Order: sequence, then C-alpha cells, then structure tokens
Amino acid sequence: MVLEVQQLSRSFRTTQGVVKALEEATFTVPDGVIAGLLGPNGSGKTTLMRLVMRILPMEKGEILFDGRPIADLDRRAIGYMPEERGLYPKATIYEQLRYLLRLKGFSAEVAQREIQTWGERLGILSYIHRPAKTLSKGMQQKAQLTLALAGNPRFLLLDEPFSGLDPINAQEVEQLLRSLREPGRLILLSTHRLEQVDELCDYIVLIHRGRILLAGHTAKLKRQYWDQRYFIETEAPVASLRWPEGASWHALSAHSAEVVLSPALSSQALLQGILTQTAVRVFYEKLPTVKEIFLRAVQSHNL
Ligand code: ADP
Repeated sequence: MVLEVQQLSRSFRTTQGVVKALEEATFTVPDGVIAGLLGPNGSGKTTLMRLVMRILPMEKGEILFDGRPIADLDRRAIGYMPEERGLYPKATIYEQLRYLLRLKGFSAEVAQREIQTWGERLGILSYIHRPAKTLSKGMQQKAQLTLALAGNPRFLLLDEPFSGLDPINAQEVEQLLRSLREPGRLILLSTHRLEQVDELCDYIVLIHRGRILLAGHTAKLKRQYWDQRYFIETEAPVASLRWPEGASWHALSAHSAEVVLSPALSSQALLQGILTQTAVRVFYEKLPTVKEIFLRAVQSHNL
C-alpha cells in the first residue's frame, strides 16, 4: 500500500464550538489506481488533503507514503490541485505557473519545459499569455491542473477536479487522468458527485461526517454489495409472465424488469423458467453503483 492514513483526527474551533472534521480516519490506497475520496460536502475531504499537503498542521494520527512519513516525500513528487483555486487576476497564466514551479523547486529551464509539455496536453497554450481574469473558470482550472501535473509527480492529489468544468473539458481531464494511471503512481481525487466516478475510479474511499465508511477496489466492493439483482428484457410483456418463486421483480418498462433473486433461486433456473414462455433479449447482473454502496454503508454504520 503506497498511501497509509492511520487514526487521523482533526478538529476546528469555531464560534459555534468544536467541529470534528476528521475522526480516526484510517485507510490505505495502493498505487496504480485512480482513487476517489468520496463523500458529501462537509465530510472532511479537503481537510484530509490539506493534512496530506501539510497546509494544515497535524493534530493526531499519521500519514505514510511508501511506509515513511509523507513529510519525507520530495515536494516535487506531489502534484496538488487545491479546492480554492486562486490565480492572481492580473498576472498571465504563464508567469504564475513559472513562478509557482520555481517556488516548488524546479529550475527555470525545467519549469518552462514542464509548462510546455503539460500545457500542450491540456490545451491551454493558446491562452497562456493572457491575464487570469480574462479567462473562464474552466480555463483557469486547466491551468491549475497543469501546475499539479508538472514534473510528472508520483502522487497526484486533486480536490474536486471536475467542479467548474463543462462536460467536454471534464471528459478531456478524465481521459488525461486515465492515461496517467500506471504502476508506481497514485492519483487521488475528491468529489461529492458520487455518480460521476463509477467508471473512472478503480478504488474508492468513502467518507461521511469525518469517518471512513469503506475503502477498497471498486469492482470488488460492487460484487460484495451486489444483492443478486438482474436486468431482463423479454419479447413478451413482463406483466404477462409467470415468474418463478423466489424472483421478486418490478417492471422498468413494458418489456423489461429488474429482478432480485432469493438465495434458493439461481439465475439459470430463472432464465429457464422465463425461456419456456418467451424469448429473452437481454439479461445481465445489475451491480450496485458507487452511490448505492455509499448509501448502504451509511445505513449499516447507522450514521
Ligand atoms: P469537504 O471537503 O468534504 O467538503 P471539509 O474538509 O472542507 O469537507 O470540511 C469538513 C468539516 O470541517 C466541515 O464541517 C467544515 O465546516 C469544517 N471545517 C473545515 N475547515 C475549517 C476551518 N478552517 N475552520 C472551521 N471549520 C472548518
């Protein structure tokens, strides 16, 4: 496991009292994945990322990378895109990127090369010499992503990378992230839009009210949470069929239904029962979505 978060707690004193943003958060993430840190607004995602980046001082717990304290990792090995993406309105994107990369420890020459390489991949070169205030939010965001990607870091930490992007830009960024998924690299992104990540994230860390509900490979969790649910589409109307005992179904349209099978009824037995009556056009396992897993995990934790 490349990233290990152990017993991480963090609270904030506010005028209303103490807010526990993270409570004993413990999870691990392997490398070679796009991992999603998923939870509703206010669940502690940004706090966790800020602790990883040491923007916030640690209170309790540990964060390890490759078995060593994250503080030992070269800053250039982490590419971070913060949630608050403040670029200076008057300076050009190029000036700002160059300045920030120099600050991060890159030589002038390397900084320039990295801006060129990643700027080209993100398609920002045509407006890189314009002041930030003349650019749309999406354009500014892609500039900030260029900054995170510069130096081709081993650990990418992206706080809500899709917020503010239109669907086309979001898809481009998604494709770029997929192309960067490789052994040795960890991409950890946060989002509160759980339905966005079913396809993208092959590892998920579910967080709710500062607590970790679940962490694991998405495919494995989907199978673990699967409740013998199937989709079926038939030639004859589903309402006209005799359904075998143990099949609890509801119609999705005249010719299609969702069926949940009791342990006593196999999918083969269901199919055989239906095939004696009509042709089956489509039949497949309906695995739960990440959002469904999240809701069930919240229920089972009684939160
Ligand atoms: P998320 O990123 O999941 O939306 P945050 O980590 O931003 O969640 O916030 C978690 C909780 O901690 C929220 O209740 C938030 O109001 C609180 N919080 C975060 N940062 C601060 C801060 N600097 N001061 C006071 N409360 C904070």
